[in-house]
Amino acid sequence: MHPAWHGPAELIRRKRDGAILSGEEIRALVAGIADGSVSEGQVAAFAMAVYFRGLVREECAALTRAMTASGAVLDWSREGLGGPVLDKHSTGGVGDTVSLILAPTVAACGGFVPMISAHGLGHTGGTLDKLASIPGYDAAPDLGRFRAVVRAAGCAIVGAGPDLAPAERRLYAIRDVTATVDSLSLITASVLAKKLAAGLDALVMDVKVGSGALLPLHDSAADLASSLLAVSGEAGLRIAALVTDMSQPLGRDVGNALEVRTAIDVLTGRRRDARLEAVTTALAAEMLVLGGLARDRADAGVRVERALGSGRAAERFGRMVVALGGPADLVDAPDRHLARAPVEVAAAPEVAGVISRVDARAIGLAVVALGGGRRRPDDVIDPSVGLADVRGVGDEVGPDQPIAMIHARSAADAEAAARTIRAAVTVGDERVAAPGHPVLRWVNEPPEREG
Ligand code: URA
Repeated sequence: MHPAWHGPAELIRRKRDGAILSGEEIRALVAGIADGSVSEGQVAAFAMAVYFRGLVREECAALTRAMTASGAVLDWSREGLGGPVLDKHSTGGVGDTVSLILAPTVAACGGFVPMISAHGLGHTGGTLDKLASIPGYDAAPDLGRFRAVVRAAGCAIVGAGPDLAPAERRLYAIRDVTATVDSLSLITASVLAKKLAAGLDALVMDVKVGSGALLPLHDSAADLASSLLAVSGEAGLRIAALVTDMSQPLGRDVGNALEVRTAIDVLTGRRRDARLEAVTTALAAEMLVLGGLARDRADAGVRVERALGSGRAAERFGRMVVALGGPADLVDAPDRHLARAPVEVAAAPEVAGVISRVDARAIGLAVVALGGGRRRPDDVIDPSVGLADVRGVGDEVGPDQPIAMIHARSAADAEAAARTIRAAVTVGDERVAAPGHPVLRWVNEPPEREG
């Protein structure tokens, strides 16, 4: 053992006092997190010390690498895929159904997307919870099946499983209950450790900003984008980050089965959803450019549009669903398979007018309260509940133009949700311009090194 390692308590004390930890110290700590010899209390204290003191780039890169190395690292080079291995990761939002549309779209453009997704956290939705509303869909395949589906369909959206980055999984679970999730350094290492373990050639990050985001403030989101770029540069992963608007739900529908239906509708062209499609297209295009599948963003945008418009993306989605055990006719007949809530009630505003503000976090929490998310880890999600056709800034609402349609298990649940929704939007007489393009910023270069 390196002489600098005097055990976890000494390391925590050094970080608490602002010291910069060595790579050896961080590797020893992560080994202890993975094998359980570092106690839960010590992991929590370390996370809190990092929350207050931060990590410099080298420390963050060392933590990332050590957590990646704590489990299996996928190697796609032996699969003979014939295309780049790409992924997208979002910092989490409300009505964010991007992954379900993006993965098959990029697959239809020649990329391979082994997408490791997560459950919802707090007010944000989780792709794994959405997929759980598809009967039979296996989001926890073994690595052999995961590889085979990526090869056959071009994409597979699954959970992390016990094999990938187990130290990150333990650290994350402890952060979740010790108010240390929203640390730039820990988010950076958490995201990149999982993505490096998935063996990617390139990653595009969707860093959300606004009332429904993990880091609502613009400066923090921009700092996170810079931190991700800097550390992934050290770790040898090609990356770009888009800062996107989460000041209101991204898509019109919020809820698990509702969002799967939205994704299928967008993939098949049955229904449009402008903001959701704008973010999905921008992220997919960035992936194609990073993966060498398009010359530039304009060329990539055309390829993405064609993949969607031709039905090839929908076909890839259907292929992935079947390969993972879901119904063969889900794309053609989603209503046959996706649960529908017994109560559907309109949430009318108190006064008619134009929406000038939406609290996306409160909308997300309304869906959690309906049963569409978890308050405790063992809560069981009802896939059918949620909010459909949620109106946004600049939209008129009134007695015949509800803020949203509530899908609930009972009239009492629906009434409670209606109260939350009315409080979550500001309605006035003034005309309000609809918000601009939801992609606020592209970040492609890591920040200059200091010193
Ligand atoms: N998403 C992650 O994967 N990790 C974090 O730490 C926060 C959001």
